[in-house]
Amino acid sequence: MPDLASLASSLSGRVTLPDDPAFDAERMPWNLAIDQRPLAVAHPAGVDDLRAILAAARDTGATVAVQPTGHGASGALEGAILTRMGAFDRIEVDAAARTATIGAGVLWGAVIAALEGTGLVAPSGTSRVVSPAGYLLGGGHSWVSRWAGLGAQSLRAAWLLRPDGTHERVDDASDPETMWALRGAGALVGIVTELEVDLHEAPAMAGGMLTFEAVDGPAVLRAVRDAAADAPEGLGLFCSTMRMPDVPMLPEEVRGRSFTTVEVLGRSASDLAPLEAIRTAATPTSERIGPITQAGLAAMSMEPEEPSPGGGSSHALDGLPDDAIDELLEWRARDEQWALVALTLRMLGGVLDAPRRPGFASLAGAAWITHALVPQFPGAPIQPGLASLAGLDALLGPHRSTRMVPTFLGPDETLEQCGSAEEVAHLRHIRDAADPDGVLHEWRLPR
Ligand SMILES: Cc1cc2nc3c(=O)[nH]c(=O)nc-3n(C[C@H](O)[C@H](O)[C@H](O)COP(=O)(O)OP(=O)(O)OC[C@H]3O[C@@H](n4cnc5c(N)ncnc54)[C@H](O)[C@@H]3O)c2cc1C
Repeated sequence: MPDLASLASSLSGRVTLPDDPAFDAERMPWNLAIDQRPLAVAHPAGVDDLRAILAAARDTGATVAVQPTGHGASGALEGAILTRMGAFDRIEVDAAARTATIGAGVLWGAVIAALEGTGLVAPSGTSRVVSPAGYLLGGGHSWVSRWAGLGAQSLRAAWLLRPDGTHERVDDASDPETMWALRGAGALVGIVTELEVDLHEAPAMAGGMLTFEAVDGPAVLRAVRDAAADAPEGLGLFCSTMRMPDVPMLPEEVRGRSFTTVEVLGRSASDLAPLEAIRTAATPTSERIGPITQAGLAAMSMEPEEPSPGGGSSHALDGLPDDAIDELLEWRARDEQWALVALTLRMLGGVLDAPRRPGFASLAGAAWITHALVPQFPGAPIQPGLASLAGLDALLGPHRSTRMVPTFLGPDETLEQCGSAEEVAHLRHIRDAADPDGVLHEWRLPR
């Protein structure tokens, strides 16, 4: 094993090595199901520390793997110095210019809180504890994607520490190739220390959730699918079939219950007009729709915030024909799928079909993106959930779109699923030029 002990003494921040009692806790990612075993965990205090980490990796034959939170953890990290970015915590909002400068260690919740009352929204996903850096550099799909594009489309510029130690601001004018790679495959070209991001005007958003009986699932899904055909660009819509296990850690009102939800966010109340047809297709058992801010929406999210183990998988789909809806819901209701707690479909389209900035990540042309969640409950085995994910993969295979967004890749999937062979070859070319010695961890594009 390379000797990294001397790195600790050269940093202003700190390094935790495997013989340290804190190592086991520090090496774990947010998704506790991924058992990553890096060589060391580094907590740099600034750019000079990052340069020292790159130099130490080069000297010892290690690699550098940046991981602010580990929501996207995807492998064992053998031979890597795991680098946490907590010290890069600046948030600066320029409301007049509708931009924010966000440090690489910041979490979305802090950005959303800073925007409350400005009438501006950030292109954040559903979790407050995901980092903007990992999300924006991996594509990022959100409630506002149908009118603001993928998160990466809002990336105006980045401060980038290149593998050769150069730290500079890059934008589309100064380095278009690097910006193209940063918008979806950011980890391949360097370590981003700050991001400059577009904010989007939405002073009068409306939204919330409708809940339906599970038995109404087929009618609701068809109505949702039909609503997508001419939905306004300002409507974000997620539809989920939920099957909650009977476990004491869940609130009584949902424990052991199955139901279907339609969650919506309109840029303005008029964008919610398609809900009428969904209400006609089936009667909601409850409805909470009204004016909402991004902070309110984030607080309502059912995403777990504490680190937890679990599995998941996602598919981008070209369409949802009637037979696919029926087959999916019939399969999903079978007893053996008990571990599949949530299966969500997010409506795509709108400006996602016409990206305004060049970038590797794209969902242009895809109609839906799914996410299946199999949490690992204490004492329960993970295998049934993994079997459900494999079954879902087979079921949705025929409807799969040609491209996926990197933030939705599962632990074993690679960037090859997110672009054409030419685009992936172009990424490899950009990486080889940026990082000829392979000092950056290979992330989702094996060398
Ligand atoms: C509960 C939950 C909800 C989610 N919701 C959404 C959602 O709504 N939409 C969506 O698109 N995705 C969503 N995701 C996926 C999530 O956006 C990705 O996993 C994202 O990459 C996580 O970023 P992170 O920094 O928090 O995670 P990490 O695992 O710490 O980082 C992910 C990767 O980003 C790269 N990276 C991070 N920081 C830097 C940097 N400074 N420089 C270079 N590379 C860097 C690294 O390759 C790193 O491996 C969700 C995930 C979870 C677990």
